[in-house]
Amino acid sequence: MIHPPDRPSLLGVGGDNAVAHAIGTVADEWTLLILRHALRDGTSRPADWQRLLPISNAVLASRLRHLGDLGVLEPRGRREFALTPRGVGLWPFLLAVWSWELTWADGPGPDLPLLRHLDCGELFTPVQTCRGCAEPVAPRDVRAAFGPSGSWPRSTPTATLRRRSSGSTSLGGGFFPESRALIGNRWSATMLGAAYLGARRFPDFQRRLGAPATVVADRLRTFSALGVLSPVGDLDHAERSTYRLTDKGRALFPVVMGALTWGERWFVAPEGPAVVVEHGDHPFEPLLVCSGCGDALSGRTITPVPVD
Ligand SMILES: [Zn+2]
Ligand SMILES: [Zn+2]
Repeated sequence: MIHPPDRPSLLGVGGDNAVAHAIGTVADEWTLLILRHALRDGTSRPADWQRLLPISNAVLASRLRHLGDLGVLEPRGRREFALTPRGVGLWPFLLAVWSWELTWADGPGPDLPLLRHLDCGELFTPVQTCRGCAEPVAPRDVRAAFGPSGSWPRSTPTATLRRRSSGSTSLGGGFFPESRALIGNRWSATMLGAAYLGARRFPDFQRRLGAPATVVADRLRTFSALGVLSPVGDLDHAERSTYRLTDKGRALFPVVMGALTWGERWFVAPEGPAVVVEHGDHPFEPLLVCSGCGDALSGRTITPVPVD
């Protein structure tokens, strides 16, 4: 299934929606790392990814094939895979992940450079604003609900990569360690989306994920241990607690919106969007701006600055 890289894919009526496609694309630990190097360093050759990541031939080949099928990468010659416009469109999402790790993760490690905005010269963090009214936007400022192609079953990817964990400990601290635990697999990514759409109690999460209770309990423990959800109630029994997004969890809003906006832009259901997000009386479309000068950021005007 090869899509023209510069046009959105049309989704079938009643099948996986834009959310499922976004999760099915980015909610994989290896894919996050592969895309990070492609977007940050222009990595395009399998040999270079293998030099940068402790990844096997077979796993790298499966991820490159999957990203090719999704129209995110395209082969260039025999040994290169270049980002398509659809792939380049993932930079706000990756930038949001990066910035969240820098700000919130415990010990992001020396492998995570700071970011400089070339237009103003400042070290910056991206600020999520509304494209319509230019105001900074926090989760409490918007209303989100399923749109015409939205529902929980349609928002969970049916086809998924065989899960081969990259092993958080063996990779050390620098490779987006906390983001990988939170969005590096489809159950966790769906759980984060459920929390953003108002899930609080164990049965809410279980119904929305359609996952076994042990999986839900395990993910709720991870999210609580990372301080993204705060459990209230009987802490020894996950199923009797309620869970609220903490400040650290709410700070993931640009990550969630980055993935959602990308999915809706590039995977279009004929019935309409999967999730409708409104800011006041207008639709919310996120725009990342520089914390230093307030100008809109673009992939070309930001550069990593190694930490000494
Ligand atoms: Zn607005
Ligand atoms: Zn700036």
